[in-house]
Amino acid sequence: MTDNILDKKDLDKSRMEPMVDGKFSFACHPGVPCFTKCCSDLDLALTPYDVLRLKYRLEVSSGELLELHTTDEVRHNCGLPVLMLKMKNDSKRTCPFLQSEGCTVYEDRPGACRLYPVARAAKYIGGTVKEQHFLIKEPHCLGFHEEKEWTDKEWLENQGLELYNEMNSLWMKINQSSKENQTPPPITDEKLKMYFMGCYNLDAFKRFVFESELLNLFQIDKRTVSRIRNDETELLKFAFRWLQFSIFGKKTMKPKPTALKARKKAMGRR
Ligand code: SF4
Ligand code: SF4
Repeated sequence: MTDNILDKKDLDKSRMEPMVDGKFSFACHPGVPCFTKCCSDLDLALTPYDVLRLKYRLEVSSGELLELHTTDEVRHNCGLPVLMLKMKNDSKRTCPFLQSEGCTVYEDRPGACRLYPVARAAKYIGGTVKEQHFLIKEPHCLGFHEEKEWTDKEWLENQGLELYNEMNSLWMKINQSSKENQTPPPITDEKLKMYFMGCYNLDAFKRFVFESELLNLFQIDKRTVSRIRNDETELLKFAFRWLQFSIFGKKTMKPKPTALKARKKAMGRR
């Protein structure tokens, strides 16, 4: 398996094949001889939306999910941490969610598991997401011998990827901000902690939003406040806006004039 947001340079070209006319033959079901063989020995990066879905599925807090099922910031993408699913400590490095009957978190499985055997390379160009799909041809995966035909669009729909891709594209904006800075300022530990909290520890981010002065300092309408209080997908979208503003100085949040005045006063300016 692989991440569902890829840089072309990151693609392992020996296993990736461009799709011919966006079509491929594939099926995955308990009857294939390789059933669940793809669920071990993985380096599976989790996106913020993956973490949100898994937290709901397992009925745990985001802090508990991070503690139980993820490894610390083991890789760095442009200086920003990437979260990995912690595999079992057995000889095969099996996914913790795998049982003999298959995936126990199937309806909320990570985007990369849904997308497989397709890989997605995506990038913002002129404010629009441009994406390209590839096939991951791994020798153990026998699903390609099945007759069912797909287009990439049909596959994405069938695997319920629309919201995953929408959320991942919003997240990608932050990561792309980091790459676009020609001479990026060093990201301080404080900002890294904020990034980690906003992306992955949504319960802590919610406390930060509603128990600090943040909502008084920015122009945020009541509908948005209600949405982010009651809907954690909306809260995560808000976290992405906040991180773009607070880490990369993007104009994704508007300070209240009173807050700007107070800040200037504190800095000794009129
Ligand atoms: S989450 Fe489910 S589909 Fe993904 S690797 Fe684990 S068991 Fe397999
Ligand atoms: S067909 Fe491929 S994706 Fe399905 S179980 Fe086999 S290895 Fe995994």
